[in-house]
Amino acid sequence: DRVLVTGANGFLAVWVVKSFLDNGYTVIGTVRSEAKGAHLKKIFKEFGDKFQLAIVKDITADGAFDELVKDVDAIAHTASPFHMEGEDPQVWIHPAVNGTLSVLKSALKNGKNVKRVVVTSSCAAVLTAGAEPQTYTEEDWNQASIDEVETKGKDASNMSKYCASKTLAERAAWDFVKDHKSEISWDLTTLNPPYIFGPVLHEISKPEDLNTSAKLMWQATLPTSTMSPKELAAPGGGWVDVRDIAFAHVLALEIEAASGQRFITSAGEWTYQDFLDIASSLSPSPLKRDVPKGVTGAGKEATHIIKYDASKAAKVLNLKYTSAEQSLKDTFEDYAQRGW
Ligand code: NDP
Repeated sequence: DRVLVTGANGFLAVWVVKSFLDNGYTVIGTVRSEAKGAHLKKIFKEFGDKFQLAIVKDITADGAFDELVKDVDAIAHTASPFHMEGEDPQVWIHPAVNGTLSVLKSALKNGKNVKRVVVTSSCAAVLTAGAEPQTYTEEDWNQASIDEVETKGKDASNMSKYCASKTLAERAAWDFVKDHKSEISWDLTTLNPPYIFGPVLHEISKPEDLNTSAKLMWQATLPTSTMSPKELAAPGGGWVDVRDIAFAHVLALEIEAASGQRFITSAGEWTYQDFLDIASSLSPSPLKRDVPKGVTGAGKEATHIIKYDASKAAKVLNLKYTSAEQSLKDTFEDYAQRGW
């Protein structure tokens, strides 16, 4: 089978591509420029023709994916901005929503063989962080961030702009499928991961350039970190190892019952302190540097106001999770090899 993966050079997407290749698929990965594809060609060399690159300069352009969807059986759309740089909410919303719609429009027009489209959404499209502890399910939608952006415009927090972009993009995908139900031969599945941590495969020369989620964890483990014990023990929401959410994309394409479903894919709650406790218990530590201690055990006292019910992904996708211990060990081994 042939699968199109958009934004193939991202932190998560490189693992998604690897997961498909490891499971026998042929992958066409899109990147925005030739230069962004060079590293991918190198790391997936062993797969020969089974890995192909395609350049899509502007994912929001009309017909951007028209040619690419012609001979694929499935699509995994991961490309979407996850950074905190900018002012205008459209920095996030335009590519998130119109990139998603562009993929779906091309699939409608030319995706004769396409059977399923998996869109990488996020728990950002699920949660509404309030004061009271809440366990979120796939029934929940983050309307609050959309409201905040509508009211405050560029003065909304950048995190809210990002969350609004993910919510609007996922909603646009479901609406598109509903509006074109009688014309399409494929169905839709969305994946809603919380914070994604884990080792890195994508091109990166220095840790300061890590993607948003991995950088947070890296920063917290620096000896120079200025995070207070309170900040370290603050509830972080959910997390998932990048390799597990990558494999979830394969499962989401293969499992019939995933049709028309969204899936929260969370391994559990976390605090930085929990990860620092694990870091100090790794013996020998893969890192050749100190890691802050914080207050050992304080993360266990955290009241997690954001919890996720991930039982649907467990039941339908049979998704299994890497432990925090294994994930951090592998991440540190990766960092150590890079001299970080
Ligand atoms: P990265 O920043 O590592 O990757 C983002 C990818 O999207 C890159 O390929 C990037 O291309 C592409 N992209 C970003 N902005 C645009 C744009 N304006 N036009 C075209 N392509 C764009 O992020 P992640 O790997 O962390 O995120 C991947 C997906 O996973 C996103 O959809 C994100 O919302 C979702 N997600 C991530 C979580 C996390 O904790 N990391 C949690 C939940 C969901 P380029 O390199 O050219 O900019």
